[in-house]
This record gives sequence, C-alpha cells and structure tokens, in this order.
Amino acid sequence: MKNNFFKATYLLLFFVLFSCNKKKLTEVVEVPLPSAEEKITMGIPDDVQANDGSFQLEKLGFGYDALTPNISAITLENHYSKHYLSYTNKLNEAIAGTNLENLTIEEVVSQLDTSNEELKNNAGGYYNHSLYFKCIGAKAAGQPKDSLAAAIDKDFESFDNFSTQFKGEATKLFGSGWVWLIVDRSGKLQITSTANQDNPLMRNAKVQGKPILALDVWEHAYYLDYQYKRKNYIDAFFNTINWRKVEENYEEAIAK
Ligand code: MN
Repeated sequence: MKNNFFKATYLLLFFVLFSCNKKKLTEVVEVPLPSAEEKITMGIPDDVQANDGSFQLEKLGFGYDALTPNISAITLENHYSKHYLSYTNKLNEAIAGTNLENLTIEEVVSQLDTSNEELKNNAGGYYNHSLYFKCIGAKAAGQPKDSLAAAIDKDFESFDNFSTQFKGEATKLFGSGWVWLIVDRSGKLQITSTANQDNPLMRNAKVQGKPILALDVWEHAYYLDYQYKRKNYIDAFFNTINWRKVEENYEEAIAK
C-alpha cells in the first residue's frame, strides 16, 4: 500500500515536471520576435526634448535622413538625439540654481572658469553642437554669397583657398575636437581649432573670436559612415554646409 503511494507520488511528480517543461518550451516558441518595422523605427528630431532647464536643443529643421549620403540617418540620429541631448541635459543640471542660469550660452562659455572641466565640457558641448546643427542643412548651397563671400575673398584670397585651409586644419587636428571659422576681435575671418569641447569664446582659447561655422571632428560625428577616413567626412561636411546660415552668423558677429 505504502509502496503504491510512493509510486503514485513519483508518477504525479514526473507528470508535473513534464507538463512544466512542455509549457516552458511552448512559451519560448511563442515569444514574438521584433518585426523588421520595429527594428528600423527612428524618432523625429522635433520629438527630442531636453529636461526642464535654461537651454533647449537647436531645432534641426530637417529629418535624420535628409543629409544622406553625406551624413547617414543613423549617425545624425545618434549625434542629435543622444550626444547633443546629453550635453544639454548635463549643462542644465550643472547650472541650475547658480548665477549662470539666466545668462545666454555665449555668456556662459565666455565667463565660465575653464578649470571646471565638467562645466566647461557640458557648456561647450551644448554651444558647439548648437552651432554645428544650425549650420548644416538639406538644401545646402555650394558656396557663400554676398558679404560673407566678399570677406572670405578678402581674408583668404579665394573660397578654394579658404576650404583647403579649413579642411587642412580639420585633417591635422589630433584626437577629438572642433574646427572653426571665426570673426576675430579686429573683424577679420580666421580658421582655428580647439580640443575636446572647448571653443574660441572661452578664456583659454589660443585664438579668440566669435564662431560662425563649426565642424565637429569627434569620431561620433562620422565613424559609422567613414571609419578612419576622416578626410572623406570633412569633404562630405562641405556638401552639407548651409552658407545662408553661416552668413547670418557673420552679419551678427560683425554688427557687435
Ligand atoms: Mn558631436
């Protein structure tokens, strides 16, 4: 009798275990795999919002895929919605409740203590990316016109000379940093570069002035598209420059 009871218990246990296994196997098979559509879903730039704070992202004004084949959608989406957003949020966090909170970003970067690495990196990261995204566009014109074209001819002899010098500065810049076209204190155009997220408005800049065009040569700006071929990215960037915006920046810089 006792024996039969154990036999029955073992049978029941075996049955329960077997059922569980069977159920488990069925569950694994039934887990839905992400569809191809879900995998390629990408948000839109206007949906990217910084957390509450003094600064918001510069509006992109075009879709992530608008700059292909010069800059791919995945690179632009990562750059704008991840890197730029992160600098913006960290800057807002860092200045909340301080006397920097109510200043313009130009005032923040030119006044900040450059030995405060964290603030310098996040404020610079915000300012630099805002200018970069402002100066590129889907309907980019090939060359500057009007007052900016005249100033480039005056200070660099020709547009070709200017672009050779600018591209040269970007190619030789070691490591992560930025290349700039600036209006210096005498009103002259100059090409310069800075390391990391520094910029020519900062007190530590070797050449100071008001930036009117910014080229990001951090690897995150091009590596998915061009890998180690930074020069190809620099050439492609020139196809995306919105010279009308750069000219607006120029007019604003010389008016001050
Ligand atoms: Mn960047």
